[in-house]
Amino acid sequence: MRLIIVGPPGAGKGTQAELLSETLGIPHISTGDLFRANISQGTPIGLEAKKYLDAGDLVPPEITINMVRERLGEPDAAKGFLLDGFPRSVEQAEALTGILADLGVGLDGVLSIVVDEDAVVGRMLARGRADDTEDVIRNRMRVYTAETSPLLDHYADRIIEVDGMGEVAAVQQQILGKLGR
Ligand code: AMP
Repeated sequence: MRLIIVGPPGAGKGTQAELLSETLGIPHISTGDLFRANISQGTPIGLEAKKYLDAGDLVPPEITINMVRERLGEPDAAKGFLLDGFPRSVEQAEALTGILADLGVGLDGVLSIVVDEDAVVGRMLARGRADDTEDVIRNRMRVYTAETSPLLDHYADRIIEVDGMGEVAAVQQQILGKLGR
């Protein structure tokens, strides 16, 4: 299966994606995790990306798109993948269409995790990540609304809506049910 998971910051995308990738036996590809790994290893991508993550802004498209193109070309992604945190803009979605066309594969669905955005801020503050301060969270929310939420229209014909406000296990059951698993 080739899936995308989208939702506002704090929707629980990473947690759900981790569980789902285990169940489906496909790699969980999180651009946030890839950037954080690059930052902690001090790679050129990491050095460039750090200031954007620290501010809650999007890393420039060329860097992000090239990183994803490379990751999707790795052997484990041939059997399927679950993309988390990418695409995050219509520009990135169009680039993804090109990458998938080059690989000769399609997309099976776009999971949209729907949450009450006010309610999830507390969840994020509790997570304790470096970019989970209140100002940065607020900026990530703004970026989501401006850049990422238009994806819901872009992918309207393959959106699979999931209510993300329940317990982790219940949300996971809902996702599996909607995927027919
Ligand atoms: P996440 O782990 O998905 O919450 O992403 C954390 C941060 O990584 C974001 O606030 C951005 O700075 C950066 N990032 C992750 N994915 C992308 C992307 N697709 N495009 C640009 N920046 C991204």
